[in-house]
Order: sequence, then C-alpha cells, then structure tokens
Amino acid sequence: QAKAEGRHCARIYHAGLRAQAQGKVLRDTELRLALERGEFEMFYQPQVRLADGALTGAEALLRWRHPEQGLLTPEHFLSALEGGLLSARVGAWVIETACRQAALWRAQGKADFRIGVNIFGAQFRSGNLVEWVVRTCAAAGLPPEALELEITENIILRHEDDIIAPLQELRELGVGVAFDDYGTGFASLSMLTRFPVSRLKIDRSFTHSICDNQAEAAVIHAVLALARSLHLKVTAEGIESKAQALALVREGCDEGQGYYFGRPMNAAAFARTFNLGVAGATARQPSRL
Ligand code: C2E
Ligand code: MG
Ligand code: MG
Ligand code: MG
Repeated sequence: QAKAEGRHCARIYHAGLRAQAQGKVLRDTELRLALERGEFEMFYQPQVRLADGALTGAEALLRWRHPEQGLLTPEHFLSALEGGLLSARVGAWVIETACRQAALWRAQGKADFRIGVNIFGAQFRSGNLVEWVVRTCAAAGLPPEALELEITENIILRHEDDIIAPLQELRELGVGVAFDDYGTGFASLSMLTRFPVSRLKIDRSFTHSICDNQAEAAVIHAVLALARSLHLKVTAEGIESKAQALALVREGCDEGQGYYFGRPMNAAAFARTFNLGVAGATARQPSRL
C-alpha cells in the first residue's frame, strides 16, 4: 500500500518536474522573443532629497509588456531570466535605454539627474563590462558620475572574484555603485569594507517599520552611523508615508525612494510628472555586451 502510494507520488513529482522544465523552456523562448520584439520597457521611480523633497534622480526598473498577460513586474520573469546569457543582453538593453533617457532629462533642465540601474550577475562575465559601460555612457551623452549601478548581495556572493576589479575601475571612472537591499543579507557588514561601494540603499523592510518598531529604527540608526563613518551616501527604499520620511530625516538620511514620493512609471508619465521630455520611445536592439 505504502509502496504503491510512494510510486504514485513519485509519478506526480516527475510529472511536476517535467511541467516545470517545459515551463522554463517556454519562458526562455518567450523572453528571447520579448527582447527581439521590443516588449521590455523601462519604468522610472523618483528618488528625492529627503530634506526638501527635491528630485535627485530615478531608479530604472524593468517591465515586460506581455502580449497576453499585460504589464509584468520582475517577480514574474526575473528568476527565469537570471543566470542565463539572455540576462546579459537584457541588462545591456536596460543600461542603454536608461542612460539615453537620463541624458535627455539632464539636457532638459535636470542637470544633476542621476540614474540608478540594477545589474545582472551575468553582465560581469563578458569581461569587458567596464569598457562597455564607458562607451555606452559616452554614446548616450551621459557623464559616468550620473550613472549608479545597483548591486545586491546575491550578486556579490555569487560573483565575488569577478566583480571587485571591474567595480573598482568603474568607481575610479566616476560611476556610482550602490549596495541594494542593504541589511537583508547575511554578510552585509563584512562586505562593506571589501567592496568599492559608494551608496547603501536601506531595504524597505527596515523603512517600513521605522515608526512602529524600535528594533528596526535602531538598525537604521546604526546603518546611518556606519555609512557616515565610511563616507557612503544612503538612500532609504520603500518610503510609503510622511511619518516614515520625517523619521528618516530626523535620523539624517540623505535620500529616499518609495510610493510616498512616486511609484515606478513609464518615461512619459515620469516626464509629465516632473515636467520633462521623453527619449525615442521605440525599443532598439541592444548592442552586444
Ligand atoms: P529593487 O532594485 O530593490 O527595486 C525596488 C523595488 O521596490 C521595485 O520593485 C519597486 O517597485 C519597489 N518599491 C519601490 N517603492 C516601494 C514602496 O514604497 N513600497 C513597496 N512595497 N515597494 C516599493 P520592482 O520594480 O518589482 O522590482 C523588483 C526587483 O527586481 C528590484 O528590486 C530589482 O532587484 C529587480 N529588477 C528590477 N528591474 C531590474 C533590471 O532592470 N535589472 C535587474 N538586474 N534587476 C531588476
Ligand atoms: Mg535596485
Ligand atoms: Mg532595493
Ligand atoms: Mg529588491
């Protein structure tokens, strides 16, 4: 009886795995086509100076305008994309698109506008990331100081040896490097001194409870003190209320980002909101990384 049940479960399990594998292959093909058909879009979420709410820049966030499923956020496709070679191509398209958009907005009056771009681990593997980033900034007319690459602890842990040198070089060229989702990982403290970062982005799980949880508030307090002593800039992510923004100002946090200041929006909506223009809206094929 038990044995028969076991066999039955095993069969279901294998069927599940097969479906999963087929699903993955489907997604791979779909994602490849999505890039070729220009179904990816960049959204932009405002980043502000907390003291007065002035716009300092934006984080570029990837969206997939799926022909049947509508607008998809990264939670629906990022895991299928990550790790594969395709992610390097999508990542290249992301940087090119975001750099061109930021250069345009700088030319239209927001002269200090900075753009934060999330990076995939695979983008480090090509070997010429530094040169490619420099060329891409130049082609877009964006000074390297206006670009900030956002890196998560996962990428650091998985690609440690490959990324220190290129990040160091990029920092020397003026490109910013932000430690994304800071505080959620295990090795965050020790990594700070070993990695050439210029900014910490405090994860929204801390921001979220700054007003009602003393322990989380203490963590933010400590992170800000640490950042100050290491001469790092800080952005608090996920600010959803005025009370959270005020608490962060009191703690001396420079910059913030979150629904309270603005949701991620497409370039047209961002431009409308902040009185700016929009770069050529049509997607171009990314150049090879
Ligand atoms: P992230 O880099 O930490 O980006 C911030 C995420 O928090 C975004 O989710 C944003 O929409 C969301 N968010 C911002 N403010 C608030 C808030 O006040 N409340 C709440 N609840 N959420 C807020 P999104 O756009 O779904 O992106 C999720 C993650 O996917 C990003 O986290 C990033 O790790 C990754 N990702 C997004 N775009 C790209 C990309 O172009 N390349 C790479 N490699 N990863 C990307
Ligand atoms: Mg980010
Ligand atoms: Mg983050
Ligand atoms: Mg995140």
